[in-house]
Amino acid sequence: MLSTVTRKLTCQVYRGLTKRLFHAGTKLCQQEQTVTTFPDIYTDDHKQLRESLRKLIDKEINPYVDEWEEKEIFPAHEVFKKLGNHGFLGVNYPVEYGGLGLDFSYLMAVAEELGNINCGAIPMAIGVQTAMSIPALNRFGSKKLKEKFLAPTIAGDYVACLGVSEVGAGSDVASIQTKAIPQGDDLIINGGKMWTTNGCQADWMCLLACTSDGPPHKNKSLICLPMNLPGIHVAKKIKKLGMKSSDTAQIFFEDVRVPRSYIIGEEGKGFLYQMLQFQEERMWGTAGVLEPLENMIKMTIDYTSQRKIFGSPVLNNQNVHFTLAEFQTEVEMLKALFHKCISLYLQGNDVTKYASMCKLKAGRLSRIVSDSCLQFWGGMGYTDDVFISRYYRDLRLLSIGAGVDEVMLSIICKYMNILPKTK
Ligand SMILES: Cc1cc2nc3c(=O)[nH]c(=O)nc-3n(C[C@H](O)[C@H](O)[C@H](O)COP(=O)(O)OP(=O)(O)OC[C@H]3O[C@@H](n4cnc5c(N)ncnc54)[C@H](O)[C@@H]3O)c2cc1C
Repeated sequence: MLSTVTRKLTCQVYRGLTKRLFHAGTKLCQQEQTVTTFPDIYTDDHKQLRESLRKLIDKEINPYVDEWEEKEIFPAHEVFKKLGNHGFLGVNYPVEYGGLGLDFSYLMAVAEELGNINCGAIPMAIGVQTAMSIPALNRFGSKKLKEKFLAPTIAGDYVACLGVSEVGAGSDVASIQTKAIPQGDDLIINGGKMWTTNGCQADWMCLLACTSDGPPHKNKSLICLPMNLPGIHVAKKIKKLGMKSSDTAQIFFEDVRVPRSYIIGEEGKGFLYQMLQFQEERMWGTAGVLEPLENMIKMTIDYTSQRKIFGSPVLNNQNVHFTLAEFQTEVEMLKALFHKCISLYLQGNDVTKYASMCKLKAGRLSRIVSDSCLQFWGGMGYTDDVFISRYYRDLRLLSIGAGVDEVMLSIICKYMNILPKTK
């Protein structure tokens, strides 16, 4: 048995040791904060690109976001031109068409940095412009089409939109009904598109339409459609729960005539091209939510450490700090998965499974983090005076747009060979 003196000494040694260990641990924690994440796809060049984009965001975008959210529209031509002038709309596109000629990881660095815009709507609109409407055109389009549509989109002179979803077909892309029937050297387009982001302001649409009566995966083409042609009607600007400053249009086509040469790549391959284009859209969506997730956690820590209830900070409740620690862990896991996905994509692999996993987790995590953080803010969280409520509304879309969570799960099941065959 230990004597009282020995016990006292042991306690002192133990206390000294734990103190030293604590300080060593704190130092380690501080060091860890400066260590880059692993596996890191970003170099100093990526970081510099992000820094200059951040300056543009702070000067040209964030001071106006509240006003644009209030008006429920932002000036796409003006904002895109500023981004285009600095090369941010074409980082991964060929120099020949005004791009910076860098690899796809630079586009992801841009998407991540845009997450520091004080809303979800404008990053989404920029994503439609640079990561959703033009990848197929860049990959499969003719030189003539690229000169006519890709170059001015990268420069920010044209606003682009993507027309895939319809009133009767969202998740089931193969069942779209809009027709572009060949007639001599032209296509005659009839039908309509729904949920078209940038649709009220766009100069052209990357349109998915049926160009023949063949099987659903082989009868579609992607078409560059100028939006000022006779027969194109922007029927309405849809009012939404969030993403307020982004315009979302319902559009009708009535005997719209467009040259057949405006088809991107091979006629009949549009469904396949769009499926490829979706991968980049899903990686963009994931990249774009990483900063908002970090920001929500940080701002909730700040607020809950100041706000006192029952004599102590809200943050001191175990439920609160444990939940935030769990979220931080999940954000790190999402980042690791995302970086793996991008690394594989850069090496030329098919990343459909990983891009779907990223998009699924990004959507789910955005929902739970924004909801729980809003709760920790109490009544303040429910007001328009704080960003947490905007994040809550805006980020809800991630589980719906670019393929709903259930579609992501179906794709993952398919790659796991566990999706039941449909008859
Ligand atoms: C703000 C906003 C902006 C958008 N921007 C664009 C754009 O620019 N261009 C564009 O083309 N589209 C755009 N979309 C459309 C978006 O991609 C679709 O909303 C999405 O694909 C879902 O389609 P849907 O709305 O028709 O839902 P539906 O297909 O009707 O699905 C409804 C629900 O059915 C369930 N479900 C669906 N599939 C499955 C399944 N396989 N298994 C089990 N359950 C399932 C899910 O719960 C799903 O939410 C936008 C949408 C919104 C809201």
